[in-house]
Amino acid sequence: MRRIEALEHLVALTEHDPLVVTCAATSRELASIADRDNHLYLLDSMGLVGSVATGLAIAAEGSDVRKVIGIEGDGSLLMNPNVLPTGGFLAPSRLFIVLLDNRVYGSTAGLPTYADRIDLGALAAASGWTTGTADDPASLRSEFARLVEAPGPTLLHVRIEAGNAADIAKLLIDPVSITLRFTAWMTARLPQRVVS
Ligand SMILES: [Mg+2]
Repeated sequence: MRRIEALEHLVALTEHDPLVVTCAATSRELASIADRDNHLYLLDSMGLVGSVATGLAIAAEGSDVRKVIGIEGDGSLLMNPNVLPTGGFLAPSRLFIVLLDNRVYGSTAGLPTYADRIDLGALAAASGWTTGTADDPASLRSEFARLVEAPGPTLLHVRIEAGNAADIAKLLIDPVSITLRFTAWMTARLPQRVVS
């Protein structure tokens, strides 16, 4: 399964969910499929999907948001693997990471990552996350459906092929605009808190 194929399924499954997306090819491919207000593209912020999604998931406690969903890559997660023990320790019930693992840095010439030998799903499980695996569209959809309803933190480890989709346009939306529109979308779904 190619990344863009996995993303097409994820877009169809997350129309009403906050989606925090890792940078570079993953954000570009996702935006080429659908560009929505519930998408937060972390441009040039490699390694921070788990951190941002964890904060949002904590903020979403008590709301109607079923999960804050992070779409992360193996190279990016390996830049900040601390998000796994942090998520396991804080245990936000609405935290769900979908890890698209192609075992390479897809945006930098396909250099191999540690995921070639290190099982990042097992690392998450050892950190207290509820995990699942998928390697085709059917298992992606069925495991997504199971984990999006399970108490978080949850992580779906999706094995994908190396390589990027051809002829994908650059993502040139102003980052400020991305933040403002996502913030407005998310704020409308969070419990209103009185600040004194
Ligand atoms: Mg990768």
